[in-house]
Amino acid sequence: MAKTIIVTGGSRGIGAGIVKLLAEENNNIVLNYNKSEEKAKKIQKECTDLGKNVEIFKADVTKREEVKKLVEFTIQKYKKIDVLINNAGISQSKLFTEVTDEEWRYVIDNNLTSVFYMSQEVVPHMIQQQSGCIINISSIWGMVGSSCESVYSVSKAGVDGLTKALAKELGPSHIRVNSIAPGLIDTQMNQDLSEEVLEEIKEETPLGKIGTPEDIAKCVKWLIEDEFTTGQIISINGGWVII
Ligand code: NAP
Repeated sequence: MAKTIIVTGGSRGIGAGIVKLLAEENNNIVLNYNKSEEKAKKIQKECTDLGKNVEIFKADVTKREEVKKLVEFTIQKYKKIDVLINNAGISQSKLFTEVTDEEWRYVIDNNLTSVFYMSQEVVPHMIQQQSGCIINISSIWGMVGSSCESVYSVSKAGVDGLTKALAKELGPSHIRVNSIAPGLIDTQMNQDLSEEVLEEIKEETPLGKIGTPEDIAKCVKWLIEDEFTTGQIISINGGWVII
């Protein structure tokens, strides 16, 4: 049966890859975007041209009121939410000693508070249904830390902590909560990395390549279908980081 799935930050990169794969599977997708309206519309058209069901909804997930509207829209349209994919996020590269209060809050708001808001608005519906699946897109840097990305690493470690805690709290309501922690994925987030750096990372990676949004989307699809995995941090990284 078609599942109703919210994908935050579905307008570009990993989120867009997730939207396309899950739409292909004949699910009802609500693609959330914030700034990239044209890109969101283009993905929606690509999917609807194939007869698939994708709605788009603008909401800044750092704002509680906009998150509420996104969830209300989904419930009004489909009466239920089966899957929440907390994918929206931003990166920041800076020496720790130069991070300002505003920059700290900005990264935490976008990467962690957004997951808190989205999950808190969606979970009551899942508890009522006594079923649900939440997938948080964190990062390898939340697992092992990244030099000059201290706030980003903290925000993603926070996401993984929330994943584990919610898995325990919501398991009895048949709601599974997992994180996917990607390694380097070819998206706009990494557009500033030089060819030289990309080649170095490929050489350090046992599978010898950079990941794609489709690599992450395939894991999302598997986690939705699975029935006995919860509270896990699954790192899709070509073996770049093995712990
Ligand atoms: P991306 O290409 O830069 O896309 C980021 C997406 O997040 C966009 O769709 C953007 O939407 C959305 N977004 C950002 N802030 C938002 C907000 N406040 N409200 C709503 N949407 C917001 O990045 P990506 O590489 O696909 O990253 C997706 C996720 O994977 C992020 O959480 C990132 O931290 C994580 N990740 C990425 C990598 C990687 O190597 N690429 C590695 C590990 C983890 P608009 O453009 O519409 O504003």
